Amino acid sequence: MLTLSVDMDEVITDTAKKLRDWYTNQFGIVFSNEDLHGKDLKHAVKQEHFSKFHEYLNAPGFFGDLEIMANAREVLEELNNKYDLYIVSAALEFPNSLKDKYDWIAQHLPFITWRQICLCGNKSIVQTDIMIDDRTRNFSHFQGRKILYTQHHNIFEENYERVSNWQEIEEKLL
Ligand SMILES: [Mg+2]
Repeated sequence: MLTLSVDMDEVITDTAKKLRDWYTNQFGIVFSNEDLHGKDLKHAVKQEHFSKFHEYLNAPGFFGDLEIMANAREVLEELNNKYDLYIVSAALEFPNSLKDKYDWIAQHLPFITWRQICLCGNKSIVQTDIMIDDRTRNFSHFQGRKILYTQHHNIFEENYERVSNWQEIEEKLL
């Protein structure tokens, strides 16, 4: 079986949606999709809101109730039968996310065992045959097949094999 690592935030979970909704509720600011092209959310929020934004991300529970991307569960379940599958998340940036992420996976992806979960500080030591991620920095040491999951912040990155949704992952890998 080929080994496959799949990122969590903004690939399996819609982290940006929760943050954008919160930002609108807190500060009355709505980002259009165009506002966020090529930009990280943390660089799009106003400077005076940044500490609240960071605090919210690190609050216990933030990562516990994220929405799952459409079709992700079904496709991951099939991928799990065909590949040696790992969920890999650089979660230590937000230490309070660790238990949330473990619980989220147990709830939404019950076919993933704890042996398939890798919560780490960075992904430079990860070498699987295939990696799906929305951050090109996670590909910098990676030797395998890189699949970039299109998100607002990576829209201008060139020369990557891309997918925009889980149906496209299904078409490529199943
Ligand atoms: Mg991500």
